[in-house]
Amino acid sequence: MSFHTHACILSTGDEIITGQLLDTNSRYLAEQLTSLGISIVEFAAIPDDLDALVHTLRRLASRAPLLIMSGGLGPTEGDLTRHALAVATGQGLVTDEAALRHLTAWLAGRGRTMNERQARQALRPSGATCLPNAVGTAPGLHSRIDSPTPGAAGTDVFCLPGPPGELSSMWLASVVPMLRPEPSRVVATRLLHVVGIPEADLVTRLGPIMKRDRVPLIGVTASQGVLTLRLRMAASTGSAQAEQALDADEATLGELLGDHLFGRGQETLPAVVLSTLRARHQTLATVESCTGGLLGALLTAIPGSSASFAGGLLTYSNELKTRLAGVDPALIAAHGAVSEQVASAMAAGGLHATGAHHAVAITGIAGPDGGSPAKPVGTVCIAHAWQSKSSTSGPAAPVSVDVRRFRFTGDRDDIRQRAARTGLAMVYFQLFGRPLSEPRLLWQLDAPK
Ligand code: ATP
Repeated sequence: MSFHTHACILSTGDEIITGQLLDTNSRYLAEQLTSLGISIVEFAAIPDDLDALVHTLRRLASRAPLLIMSGGLGPTEGDLTRHALAVATGQGLVTDEAALRHLTAWLAGRGRTMNERQARQALRPSGATCLPNAVGTAPGLHSRIDSPTPGAAGTDVFCLPGPPGELSSMWLASVVPMLRPEPSRVVATRLLHVVGIPEADLVTRLGPIMKRDRVPLIGVTASQGVLTLRLRMAASTGSAQAEQALDADEATLGELLGDHLFGRGQETLPAVVLSTLRARHQTLATVESCTGGLLGALLTAIPGSSASFAGGLLTYSNELKTRLAGVDPALIAAHGAVSEQVASAMAAGGLHATGAHHAVAITGIAGPDGGSPAKPVGTVCIAHAWQSKSSTSGPAAPVSVDVRRFRFTGDRDDIRQRAARTGLAMVYFQLFGRPLSEPRLLWQLDAPK
């Protein structure tokens, strides 16, 4: 048997082709295959059309010994994957009795009976095998498409259901154990997450370690103010060479980046901030205006957040800024709701109202309307207030405030996302002992003289 040295990924669905749905399945499969040392030679996405499916299955099968396909296995007329596989392999469709039994039991367990449409999901090309679906109805399929060249090895084709949860569970349970990556080649990877440095400055700061022809290869991606360094190296199975090289690079990067390096692997900024607060027995509250609870949502998305997230005030109107966060209306009248003064008062008011050790307040203009020459769309003031001495917490405790003005770029969603993450970055750097207002963050404006 030949090895699965390289692979093609095919997704099907009119929703993908029309841009209504982002093809996250292909991304997931690409990450998984890459981590197994299997190179991707092509991604394809095509509509629910039988001829196009058959043609593409045959074309991709001629390019790689492995083809992973997602979607089109459901019960509707538009679900054509099993028919296309039957045509591409020159086989007829038969009912898989085990799949039919599973389907009947699955539906019965939910008080439903089998109809003709649903029974279609138990059909398979005669030479194919069904892959069990532990979390949905449609079984997957595994088949081989023979090479047109006599004697040449064929292609293993795996067809997986479209819903991402069904796809990943079937991938891990049924497909990965059947893959044959080249035994001599594994790819080791690391992810390091960085905040508070613009991408261009990061590349300058890291110097030759970022060269494109270097081994291990280090790449960088940026998302809403957070940079992710991806370290990658292929090596022989069983050799510690790749892991040792990545350990050495990680140590070098740690020295070059200092506290800008906030996390590794699956760690996120909200999770790191919350776990740091938790370790110090401190709590955080939010007072949000233009982000409308987004920062609270980022924090509460982390399991166990209740240990260090106290809660938040959603003070969208000026009236609620006053009523809930205690902002003096005269301050709003004098400086406007989007101002350093009001942001600071919101944060201090949030500390007072919630009794938390830290409060982050965000007030700004997310657009597309509402900007002015002095405060264009994207202007956001963010304040972080904290009780200077946790031992004397309470309304009388001394409060420190770090307040900054930003001009975020992008559309309404980008501005809100960037503001929420920037608020977290301010808390992060204070927790790690940075002096007030350091470091200067992305999109930050100079303080008024
Ligand atoms: P079902 O049994 O649910 O019909 P299926 O295999 O027929 O599964 P599709 O009908 O193609 O899958 O897609 C079902 C849903 O799965 C889509 O509406 C979409 O929400 C999700 N989905 C499909 N393909 C993708 C993809 N490539 N990336 C992310 N989500 C996808």
